[in-house]
Amino acid sequence: MNPNVNEKLIFEMSKKGRSGSFIPECTDTSCIPSEYLRDKPPKLPSVPENEVVRHFVRLSMLNHGVDKGTYPLGSCTMKYNPKVNEKAARFKAFSNLHPYQDEDSVQGILKILYELGEDLQAISGMDGITLQPAAGAHGELTGILMCRAFHTSNGNPRVKILVPDSSHGTNPATAAMCGYKVQTLKSNNSGTIDIDTLNKNMDEDVAALMITNPNTLGIFENEISDISEIVHRKGGLLYYDGANMNAIMGYMRPGDTGFDMVHFNLHKTFSTPHGTGGPGAGPVAVKKHIIPFLPYPTVNSTGDRYFFDYSNRQTSIGKMRAFYGNFLVLLRAYLYIRANGYSGLKRTSELAVLNANYLKKKISHNFTAPSSRDTFHEFVLSAQNIKKETGVNTLDISKRILDFGIHAPTIYFPLIVKEALMVEPTETETKENLDFYAEIMEKIIAEARSNPEELHKAPHKTPVSRPDEVRANRRPILKALSLPEKED
Ligand SMILES: *Cc1c(COP(=O)(O)O)cnc(C)c1O
Repeated sequence: MNPNVNEKLIFEMSKKGRSGSFIPECTDTSCIPSEYLRDKPPKLPSVPENEVVRHFVRLSMLNHGVDKGTYPLGSCTMKYNPKVNEKAARFKAFSNLHPYQDEDSVQGILKILYELGEDLQAISGMDGITLQPAAGAHGELTGILMCRAFHTSNGNPRVKILVPDSSHGTNPATAAMCGYKVQTLKSNNSGTIDIDTLNKNMDEDVAALMITNPNTLGIFENEISDISEIVHRKGGLLYYDGANMNAIMGYMRPGDTGFDMVHFNLHKTFSTPHGTGGPGAGPVAVKKHIIPFLPYPTVNSTGDRYFFDYSNRQTSIGKMRAFYGNFLVLLRAYLYIRANGYSGLKRTSELAVLNANYLKKKISHNFTAPSSRDTFHEFVLSAQNIKKETGVNTLDISKRILDFGIHAPTIYFPLIVKEALMVEPTETETKENLDFYAEIMEKIIAEARSNPEELHKAPHKTPVSRPDEVRANRRPILKALSLPEKED
């Protein structure tokens, strides 16, 4: 077992009298309001500075991150995040902002928000936007609440939302949270929406169809014009889950292909460190007919002055978040978009698609493919053949990948593919990294044939081998217990 696993809690490292700080002793406490005075010092660990540094550096090495190695986690777009944006986000002018500051004192900030909104509308082909939502799933909630408000204002609230069976779990969850009945559409043999199935299910009770394009199999819904026509003919709305924007920026705009609204995952496509819960940003851009329902305030401009616009307060779905969204994530996205420009964003999509197809070509002969269709920025393979032949399953393969300093793919998703491995290398990986990934995959498949028992026990080189993942998810213990201080 890796010795790092025995890393103690910082409280367990504490010994009385040791210290990493030099705080002058306080003798005169008369200036401190009495409610803040305590009779005992707070229970902080006593650890010398060098041990604190080593402790946290060791902890940081226990995990995998995009700054440490390849991280091709499908659907999550774990691309490298430029450090210059991290630096900018820490400028005091940005990080010390107060949400109650007067509009006149934050004109530059409002300009950034306004221009980011304009850029995102241009990228998606939409007419209005809210920057408030704090994540993709939160954007979906915002979008579907606006969908409900739209139908209600037309005198027919409608009761159903359609989602394809390849959809991300947040789509049906969002629809259910908004009080809709969720109806799942079975995909056709190519892994896309089946037009006959859609026709059968689309009626005037359907409020919206939510889709991702390219979908979670990485396949482009090339019948999108027909799909849009069918949904709109019955008065439904078309919702675009924009998590896969990395595949199409500069090539296709959801607004041009019939979508009424789209959420962005700024932390994915436009690069903010993310994972394990945020922070993120999920702006929602909409067509003209949805603008009245946008959360208020939006950011607007008179040309020379920027301001918070409350003019749709009467028809708005309300506020979706305190104040104006996760500003520092919005800022990073703005910088990323402005640094890349139109041609840079287009190039990003090209390289993301190229990298995914290069890697797919190199490893797919080992697996079965759920569809023969071309894929875009990510691809899904099935290890069912390997499992049948050797008993080694997708989980075993993914666990073994970790031994080589690479993050596992997304596995067992989308749900319609058995033993699924979903790989999204992103545009920021070099050819050498992709070649290394392919080499590792060959090695693991060879091991599956020669020594399957070892693979059931993988990984061997990580700090923890096979945690009880179900229990870790259901019963997380997120609180550090403070332990009694040891005497020297
Ligand atoms: C990531 C993702 C979401 C959810 O986005 P969060 O920002 O994680 O809430 C929704 N749909 C798809 C297809 C995704 O990949």
